[in-house]
Amino acid sequence: MLRIFNTLSRKKEGFKPLRKNQVGLYTCGPTVYNYAHIGNLRTYIFEDVLQRTLEYNGYQVKRVMNITDVGHLTSDADTGEDKIEKEAQLERKSVWEIAEFYTKAFLRDIKNLNIKIPELLIPATKTVPDQIKIIKRLLTSRFAYETSKAIYFEVSKFKNYTKLSRQPLTEKIVAAREEVIADPEKKGAADFVLWFKLVDRFKNHIMRWPSPWGDGFPGWHIECSAISTKYLGQPFDVHTGGVDHISVHHTNEIAQSEAAFSKSLARYWMHGEFLTINQGRMGKSLGNFITLQDLQKMGYNPLAYRYLVLNSHYRSHLDFSLESLKSAENAYHGLKNNLAAFKNCEAKIKDSSADKTAKKAIKLFQKKFSEAINDDLNTAKALASVHELLNQSNSIKAGGKLNGRIAKEVYKAIMNLDKILGLKLAEMPKIPSKIIGLTKKRELYRVRKQFIQADALRKEIETLGYSIEDTPQGPLVLPKSV
Ligand code: AMP
Ligand code: ZN
Repeated sequence: MLRIFNTLSRKKEGFKPLRKNQVGLYTCGPTVYNYAHIGNLRTYIFEDVLQRTLEYNGYQVKRVMNITDVGHLTSDADTGEDKIEKEAQLERKSVWEIAEFYTKAFLRDIKNLNIKIPELLIPATKTVPDQIKIIKRLLTSRFAYETSKAIYFEVSKFKNYTKLSRQPLTEKIVAAREEVIADPEKKGAADFVLWFKLVDRFKNHIMRWPSPWGDGFPGWHIECSAISTKYLGQPFDVHTGGVDHISVHHTNEIAQSEAAFSKSLARYWMHGEFLTINQGRMGKSLGNFITLQDLQKMGYNPLAYRYLVLNSHYRSHLDFSLESLKSAENAYHGLKNNLAAFKNCEAKIKDSSADKTAKKAIKLFQKKFSEAINDDLNTAKALASVHELLNQSNSIKAGGKLNGRIAKEVYKAIMNLDKILGLKLAEMPKIPSKIIGLTKKRELYRVRKQFIQADALRKEIETLGYSIEDTPQGPLVLPKSV
């Protein structure tokens, strides 16, 4: 049975969907004012593995993701400028061009990381009337109030406002002082904006919509309440995001949705831990971020980054460095090369005892992998079980006892579970025939211990842009990175 850690209960719980065989999954999406950084992408990889694991467990997953293209201010609270409008000024483009450009960049990144595109990808600006409807309900039920500057959600009216974060409300109140000064009519310091009116700093806000309260634009959190309710109903099964969303964004989503519809919003809340760099959080506003494109420009395969991410648990910190990426890339390529050797193994060996041992290892691998992934998505343990099976099979192979048919079973068993890892383990880079020829020649010299000639050929291969590594399965030739 699949078990997942629920932030709401702070416990691992057995997963039970609300509807038989179907899962409603809502994953908060990017704010498209800049490129996603590899920290953001870590969270999207975790969510992709979650979707794939649910599918592996036989569920049909309806996944929804919002695209934030309005209303997210430069602070996660209600202060500062609209991130999209600020970037539009900076780049001298329209707000719509900015949103479109960075949405496309986001889609390119997730495709390169083999992340499945969510079935429903909904821009916030496409659901403003739905958001207005919820705000109206909240005003009617007096969970919200109007000032001359905005419509606010009144936090003190909602029981258990901090149930997700378990953070004392006083901490929020201190953090929100600046906003109280900005709007003296605001009742509680922790109250948050549902709708901004076009006054003061927002007088010239470009994105604007008519509403019962005059022209304006929505606050950041209301889009997720509107989109999730519209496409998944309420309650739905799983809601996810990065840990930074626990105390503000998700806390506010719960308050809005549950107050508006008197029903819980989601059954399970899952949060991915931060990617750090030099032990500090990677963040767009912190200026320490790296994009996937940066890594690609350095020659790295995006799937090597996926491998690096999968090698840690989604609830643990992962500190990024180019060294760790390089070793992840080596391990990833080694794994693929090793698998190709199993796929192509045609050995005709009759050894029933070796066959039995190998088959037992495959069965044990399938059990271990499935237990690991169903234990709150333990991808690191699942990957370790892949390596364990390969090591066991390699030692049978090295002893000259691995039958081609069994080797192919090893290959198939691993490929089948690559549906969850999403590492495209079957794909090998295309190596030009000239390089293959040089490699074969070098191998002949190496076997004959003519190392000077072998080294000269290695150098030639390297100057042509390829690296060569000697592995137990033979030479591994790859396009050179960095
Ligand atoms: P944003 O585009 O800022 O709304 O963030 C998109 C997603 O990335 C959200 O789920 C965030 O919680 C997550 N996120 C932000 N920074 C990091 C980080 N350093 N590591 C992992 N996830 C992050
Ligand atoms: Zn959200």
